[in-house]
Amino acid sequence: MDFTFKRIYKGQIKMVVLDWAGTTMDYGCYAPAVVFIEVYKNKGVEITMEQARRPMGLHKREHIRAISKQAEVAAMWQAVHGRPVTDADVEAMFADFQPLQMACLADYADLIPGALDAVAALREKGILIGSTTGYFAEAMELLKSEAAARGYVPDNSVCATEVPAGRPEPWMVLKNMFDLGIYPPEAVVKVDDTKPGISEGLNAGTWTIGLAKTGNEVGLNLEEVNALAPEVLEPMVAKARLELAKMGAHYVVDSIVDVPAVVEDINLRLARGECP
Ligand SMILES: [Mg+2]
Repeated sequence: MDFTFKRIYKGQIKMVVLDWAGTTMDYGCYAPAVVFIEVYKNKGVEITMEQARRPMGLHKREHIRAISKQAEVAAMWQAVHGRPVTDADVEAMFADFQPLQMACLADYADLIPGALDAVAALREKGILIGSTTGYFAEAMELLKSEAAARGYVPDNSVCATEVPAGRPEPWMVLKNMFDLGIYPPEAVVKVDDTKPGISEGLNAGTWTIGLAKTGNEVGLNLEEVNALAPEVLEPMVAKARLELAKMGAHYVVDSIVDVPAVVEDINLRLARGECP
């Protein structure tokens, strides 16, 4: 027998799973970054914005742990405390983190310009909107009510504490599929501004779109972005595009505004028998 036959999904995209901070709201993904800096400062360790942002996308407890594992941070911690960071330190900082994050979350809840139109354009094609986040449950509930007040209500939301593990594991995306009855993974697109968020989609077997300009990789809010000269901003966005592409994102675009056009392109590829 010289031939075998392979089952190929040739339908259209049925669901787009959107991240929250840096993807649909909180341009520049500031809310978590500023609080990570604060919880470390409370322990006498002054980390930089870049160190705070590097692990972005993980569950916030794992993010705190990942910051501590960076060589420069580990050295500063050792100098201040005379020992390495322990699990108990991570737990204590996460306990500090939660109320601080809740206190400032609403200040960073504005939607990214064009997000509502992009979501409406996807829904016009019959596409459902799922969502995943590295925020803990209480924070996600607050975000959902802030977003609803601004006109954004996804069809489903999953946070890391509802599944066995958060990003880069695929469970939050798969739970969205389960909750909304969507399959196969080829009919799903994961959209995210962070590397663990791209891995999450790839691990779930979905298409992935990285957002370079509005999220953690550039790490600047709308006013800061608008204040920069194009020759300063463009290399920063180019670097962000490269970083997300290196993670294996199928597409990298500037913002959520570009997502409906990419979904159109994916639909053409699916019709030709391509898969993610
Ligand atoms: Mg994000």
